[in-house]
Amino acid sequence: MRKKIVAGNWKMNLTPEQGVSLVNDILKEKIELKYNQAVVVFPPFTGIAGVSKSIEEIENTKLSLGAQNISDKSSGAYTGEVSAEMLVSLNVRYVIVGHSERRQIFGESHELLQKKVDAVLSSKMIPIFCCGEPLEIREQDGQNDYVKKQIEESLYHLNSETVSSNLVIAYEPIWAIGTGRTATADQAEDMHAYIRILIEEKWGSDAAENISILYGGSVKPDNAEELFAKENVDGGLIGGAALQADSFLGIIDKMN
Ligand code: PEP
Repeated sequence: MRKKIVAGNWKMNLTPEQGVSLVNDILKEKIELKYNQAVVVFPPFTGIAGVSKSIEEIENTKLSLGAQNISDKSSGAYTGEVSAEMLVSLNVRYVIVGHSERRQIFGESHELLQKKVDAVLSSKMIPIFCCGEPLEIREQDGQNDYVKKQIEESLYHLNSETVSSNLVIAYEPIWAIGTGRTATADQAEDMHAYIRILIEEKWGSDAAENISILYGGSVKPDNAEELFAKENVDGGLIGGAALQADSFLGIIDKMN
């Protein structure tokens, strides 16, 4: 069953106290979600425990917890790394893998991202696998091949059942992230439809029908409705606008 998801990536923002306060502000509002909708917040590692506790205290909570990164290793002498087991112990359900900032600033390769996807899946969490092209590739109309390679190199080892039930893809054109320049709803729809075709070719029609494909890149309350209305856009991965309760709630409100 394809899910609609609004996911808030806080990046390296908010102290643990600020994170708890934001989540409490979000939880104060009565979020009405349908059975196939989810809202996820992704604090930095230091904020996960506090947010986990806040979420736990609310009965029938509408909020799920995510992590922005994960180690591909399971335990041991890996200074600075955080393992899947540690995240699971804090009730983390989703993990972002392959965000363009991790690819570009921290040099994460297709091979490493493949291992991170496996680390997430083997602990029964759900990877939100990010893909998307830089501006120079878009200007040469090379975005489809670029995204295809990202998916091929890090996901093609997975089986159909996993792709159908335990994977989310986020298309995030790099030129739209944090720039205020959103892809048009038609540009997003074209890429999402293309990704769905790729999935159908590789893993079959059930996987293509069931997988959620989120759009990310300067989503705000005033452009979310048009983006989310597109047939192949199943919600959004939100950066800047996830840092204030009002704007995040305004985007959640646009899930249909
Ligand atoms: C992101 O961080 O994935 C993102 C899409 O950021 P923003 O919404 O700020 O463009």
